[in-house]
Amino acid sequence: MLENKFPGKDISDEDIKTKFPLVAKKDPNHKSVFKIAGVEFGGNLIPIFAGPNMVESKDLILETAKNVKKNGAHFLRGGAFKPLTFPYRSEKYNETREKGIEWLKAAKEKYNIPIITEIMEEKYLSLVSSVADILQIGSRNMQNFPLISACAKTGKPIMLKRHYGASLRDWLGAAEYILYEGTEKVILCERGVSAAHTHRSTSRFLLDLQVVPAAQEITHLPIAVDPSHATFWRAWVKSMTMASVAAGADAIMLEVHPDPENSAVDPLQPINFEDFGNLVTKMDSIAKILNKKIL
Ligand code: PEP
Ligand code: MN
Repeated sequence: MLENKFPGKDISDEDIKTKFPLVAKKDPNHKSVFKIAGVEFGGNLIPIFAGPNMVESKDLILETAKNVKKNGAHFLRGGAFKPLTFPYRSEKYNETREKGIEWLKAAKEKYNIPIITEIMEEKYLSLVSSVADILQIGSRNMQNFPLISACAKTGKPIMLKRHYGASLRDWLGAAEYILYEGTEKVILCERGVSAAHTHRSTSRFLLDLQVVPAAQEITHLPIAVDPSHATFWRAWVKSMTMASVAAGADAIMLEVHPDPENSAVDPLQPINFEDFGNLVTKMDSIAKILNKKIL
């Protein structure tokens, strides 16, 4: 039994039993395996979510859906509702909201690819659920308990991104809210944390890969990694994605854009279709060493 010297900071054996009993493994080999839109999570497949940061236009999302699917993505990602850091908007730097949801629907129907997209407010839950196969709770809403409980009550699969300042304990506590409402198809996603140093002025967060085995030690839920938001810097995405697979990630989220430098949001982080295709091939080789696969 670990002594809980600093309650509230790290995870004690007591926490595992009393704070997140539903999230916690029942035995060391306990792992949730489930299908979403026919794609298996928690088994030997490592599903890939790929697409732009924001659903900027119909053409952009259709072109992206076609290309990421061809290159091995299992889900199309992209936000119609976006937590933009600053309130100043322009025609390009703005959420596309209802229109964006329509464009995601068009892409889903045309290319037969399932969708993961962010939900920001409960009032849009039925609209976003009309297209989303997975509801994405963004890092900024990780502890928005009314929102996550409302999403969980729909029974839709949920991906819960870790807030960049949240401990593993707080992240698992938020996941417990979802399981508590009865939704079992839950994926956790590490997306970079705030840190004293991020090595270059172009980078913003630090990818916490150590949280992958740390979380997997405690929870049966699949752990995804988003190296795009974590690095905030295109040149580092490839190596950190391969490292995420090697670290045991159960799924990968990547920002992919037809013209990365002109992405309306976070133009420093997306990769293009060709680099995505090459990266998927490399990830698949690494996955094979671990008896897993992507393709
Ligand atoms: C996103 O995935 O588009 C996003 C906003 O990510 P995060 O919540 O991790 O910042
Ligand atoms: Mn983003």
